[in-house]
Amino acid sequence: MISSDVLELLWCAACADGGLELASGMPRELVCEACGERYPFVDGIPDLVPRSASEKYRYYRTDTLRNLIAPLFDVAAPIMSMALWRCPPLRYVDAHHRAVGRSDGGVYVECPVGTGLLLGHVRAEHLAGPFLCIDSSWSMLRHAERRFRAAGMMDRVTLLRADPEHLPLKAGIARSFQTVNGLHGFHDRTGVLGEFNRVLEPGGHFAGSTLVRGGGPLADVILHWYEQYGVVQPLRSREYVIQELDEVLGYPFLHETYGSALFFSGTKSG
Ligand SMILES: [Zn+2]
Repeated sequence: MISSDVLELLWCAACADGGLELASGMPRELVCEACGERYPFVDGIPDLVPRSASEKYRYYRTDTLRNLIAPLFDVAAPIMSMALWRCPPLRYVDAHHRAVGRSDGGVYVECPVGTGLLLGHVRAEHLAGPFLCIDSSWSMLRHAERRFRAAGMMDRVTLLRADPEHLPLKAGIARSFQTVNGLHGFHDRTGVLGEFNRVLEPGGHFAGSTLVRGGGPLADVILHWYEQYGVVQPLRSREYVIQELDEVLGYPFLHETYGSALFFSGTKSG
């Protein structure tokens, strides 16, 4: 269900002021020690989106699309990466392995985890510390759970449904935080970046990738269509996103671009 080690890392996304504890009685729920907000388990996965925020997921098109594509994601993602975004899929695998390695026995957080396609490449015996895998899409989370269960990883991996803009995690708990192709879909990109940075411990490793404009004419047409449909926020150029990262993070980071995919990684100062 959820280990006491992981429970220690969680806090209430509604009031951002209290830790969570397992409520007594059935059905099993987590409850905030400060404001009393209750969070149910759905098929064994804690739903840590506060009720006040859950309304937005009824019309949020990014999530609607993610729920729809989850069954096809494992096949579609590498093909789209090569054909549309012109980024070799192995770039993602490489960057992912580096970020997992940087957790080095500490807490690793991945948001959005999607179907767990990348973490599924890591051998279960190489996972040491708690691995917190976060997504707001139920369909993605259920696919990830099936993958991790089949790979014998569920004793180390914890799946959480949460709003990336209000992570249910205490500050400074993550040694490595990874966000693969999620930033361009989040409602408030700089707000989410600040939130990711908040949960990272000083000296922790932040890494990820996002789609940017200017990677090629076909990609830009598809990205324009995404914007029109409301799947993503207005997409920016590589330079614009690098500037945003610089402003929010406030510490040096490396970046490289392959087609429409911008990769970044840095170590949190302090
Ligand atoms: Zn609370």
